Amino acid sequence: MRGGNEMVAEKIIYGKIFTADSENSIAEGFAVAGGKIIAVGTKKQMDSYKGPSTKVIRYDAGLITPGFTEGHAHISQTMELLVGPLVNGTSIEKCQKQVADYARKHHGNEPILGTGFDPGLFGPAGPDKHYLDEVCSNRPVVIHDSGHHSVWVNSKALEVCGITRDTPDPENGHIVKDEKTGEPTGFVQEQAVSLMKPAMPEIGVEDYKKGILEYQKIALSYGVTNAFEPMLSYWHHEEAICEAYRQLEAEKRLKLSYRVALTLLPVMDPKVFFDRLENLHREFSGHDKLQFNTVKFFMDGVVDGHTAYLREPYEKPPLDCGTPNYDQEELNKRVTMALERGYRTHFHAIGDAATDEAINACEAAQDYVEGDDFRNQITHLQVCHEDQAERMADLGIIAVVNPYWHFKTDLYAPLEFPFLGKKRAEHMYYLGTYLKHGITISQASDFPVTIPPDTMDSLHMMVNRENPKYSEEPYFPSECISVEDALRVLTINGAFQLDLEDRKGSIEPGKDADFVWLSQDVTSIPKKDIWKTKILETDIGGKVVFERNEKNLLSDIA
Ligand SMILES: [Zn+2]
Repeated sequence: MRGGNEMVAEKIIYGKIFTADSENSIAEGFAVAGGKIIAVGTKKQMDSYKGPSTKVIRYDAGLITPGFTEGHAHISQTMELLVGPLVNGTSIEKCQKQVADYARKHHGNEPILGTGFDPGLFGPAGPDKHYLDEVCSNRPVVIHDSGHHSVWVNSKALEVCGITRDTPDPENGHIVKDEKTGEPTGFVQEQAVSLMKPAMPEIGVEDYKKGILEYQKIALSYGVTNAFEPMLSYWHHEEAICEAYRQLEAEKRLKLSYRVALTLLPVMDPKVFFDRLENLHREFSGHDKLQFNTVKFFMDGVVDGHTAYLREPYEKPPLDCGTPNYDQEELNKRVTMALERGYRTHFHAIGDAATDEAINACEAAQDYVEGDDFRNQITHLQVCHEDQAERMADLGIIAVVNPYWHFKTDLYAPLEFPFLGKKRAEHMYYLGTYLKHGITISQASDFPVTIPPDTMDSLHMMVNRENPKYSEEPYFPSECISVEDALRVLTINGAFQLDLEDRKGSIEPGKDADFVWLSQDVTSIPKKDIWKTKILETDIGGKVVFERNEKNLLSDIA
């Protein structure tokens, strides 16, 4: 009855399967028992695992892949999309209307907290409080930019927080002031955002729980089964966020495997920081769905905020290189402390000089600490150089890239050229170069910076370096990679970034039965059509956790 096999499968999956094993093998089926994959191979081989109660499921079209990993998403900040307006209009007027509509629907004097504006809309001076005052002046309004490096606030918000022309900048933060009058303009950057807390509504554990669950729903609909949260700490809400995760874990409502970082800011006492992280790490060690295992470092800001740290000066006044957040020696010490304690590190670096600092610190720490498996990670990697790729390869640093941004937008020329000049702006965001050097590449949406975090957009842009919704003209096309390599970025490499590769990231015997069913076989369709692919089903541990309703989609593609 068992065809000679010791084990009987509870479930056998038949279809075209991209396994992401070391050979990128294609299989015809796999067998599942106890939430694990027990065998992978040909249809005939799988037939021998059939028993009387085995459930057989045939996926006749499309492609099955391992579950995807989100390498950097601000999961808990999804709360922002639930508590206030999304202010992502493509013009100042549209943003004003979004705020006005929200204020009308939610009248009263409660502060309004929005998110999503693009600082590039406002020209070199940045957003101005008067635009918000025009539509809402009786209550504080605070809007996060889509990249979470600044806020745009109205006069009432500045008043409530007591911020005037005399308020000094905090460390690693900037209150933009009018050149002539010296008054704050309503544009508040980086760590100065924490000064705006009195003008924001009370956000508590319940809000964060809702936010995490909302993220989870979105992520599963894009085939994401593992995710990394690099927390934002200028909110000083770390405790509430940790408590939200703690409660969801206890209530068994976490479906993805979450790996969480705490951010070590330059102003923090590292001893106090590592004690806090150690407690969380110990509390959740051995847990399946939730672990705290990473230290996040903010190396610099963003190019269009003039806060990225560059090797060569900006093209516009004051023609400086931007300033680093960290002193190199202090950073080296802190990265060493992290590695000594067995943590992974994750660096936000946009400018090339910021990336240099991160690499230097990894090198110094890896020289000092014993071991050979450190998995330090650098994300964003906007302005980059081949010599950096060489050093990253030598040190085993993981490149956590953002393919969602690797295309030409309407704002690309007006936003990047004035700051970086054409030559630098045309050679940003390596991908193929990292692959060529043998660097492990993982990918991230930085959600809610990217909305929606559609993994098929990421796959499309890794392969094509263009976004059909904007322009057919590819951006820096020599950096394109193959579909198979891009699928590995989304699956096994992502699992490796999160220390999950023993259990996740490929369809191989012994691993968790996590998989995604794609509506099209992306390995054989024209590359230009990858973005049209839909996620039809997501499974974790052999259980369906997302099912797309429009399965008639298949009639279009079969
Ligand atoms: Zn981020």
